[in-house]
Amino acid sequence: MSITGKVVLVTGAGQGIGRGIALRLAHDGADIALVDLDQTKLDAVADEIRQIGRRATTFIADVSDRAQVHAAVEHAHSELSGFDVIVNNAGIALVGPISDATPDEVSKIWSVNVDGVLWGIQAAAAKFQALGQRGKIINASSIAGHDGFAMLGVYSATKFAVRALTQAAAKEYATDGITVNAYCPGVVGTDMWVTIDKRFAELTGAPEGATYEKFVGGIALGRAETPDDVAGFVSYLAGPDSDYMTGQAGLIDGGLVYR
Ligand code: ADP
Repeated sequence: MSITGKVVLVTGAGQGIGRGIALRLAHDGADIALVDLDQTKLDAVADEIRQIGRRATTFIADVSDRAQVHAAVEHAHSELSGFDVIVNNAGIALVGPISDATPDEVSKIWSVNVDGVLWGIQAAAAKFQALGQRGKIINASSIAGHDGFAMLGVYSATKFAVRALTQAAAKEYATDGITVNAYCPGVVGTDMWVTIDKRFAELTGAPEGATYEKFVGGIALGRAETPDDVAGFVSYLAGPDSDYMTGQAGLIDGGLVYR
């Protein structure tokens, strides 16, 4: 049960869950192509991966831009001499009541969270097909992709959409030997949750930190999730033990019961 020597591209790898996934997969023996918007952050993660003893390459791309995502896949393949797995992890949040959502805000989050995953699926599948090999596509959904959370309605819609793409792509690419699955984290203590919590505070008058604590209080396992918790499941999805799984969107949320 190994991903040793496999080449994995991770988007949104500069920090948070994406960084955690990249480091875990490197520990498991993979070489990693790191994609994000910020070179400084990518360089830091690449250094950490090299210290683990694996190869790393970095590529600046905005996942909402189809051509940039295709270029990222080409870069990964040429720099690391292979291409086996893509983790379409990059995402952004939007907090606010449905009544207040503006066209610009909705276009922005949709272009990153949904279009970004779609372009990642397209680019990776096309590359696997061109190489005539099997491959794995792993997409970031969320607990919010299983339930429409108040104040996170548009974000939830994007994460439901990722599940839809995951299910459809799994069927379309199955005969090519390409599997497509998603991971659905709960409350992970990353910058994204800091932003969500602050925005809840502005909008509802709740003290800063209160919304985060409320959500964490609803986790059956009694603690916030870490990027490592997510990364362990992604490692399973990237490896051979999940070869017979496709079209799934697995919850890895510690048993979150708060709504
Ligand atoms: P989390 O890790 O909880 O999903 P973060 O906000 O900590 O949330 O990390 C998300 C990562 O995704 C950041 O490194 C961010 O720069 C990256 N990201 C956001 N939007 C894009 C985009 N359009 N293209 C590439 N990377 C992006």
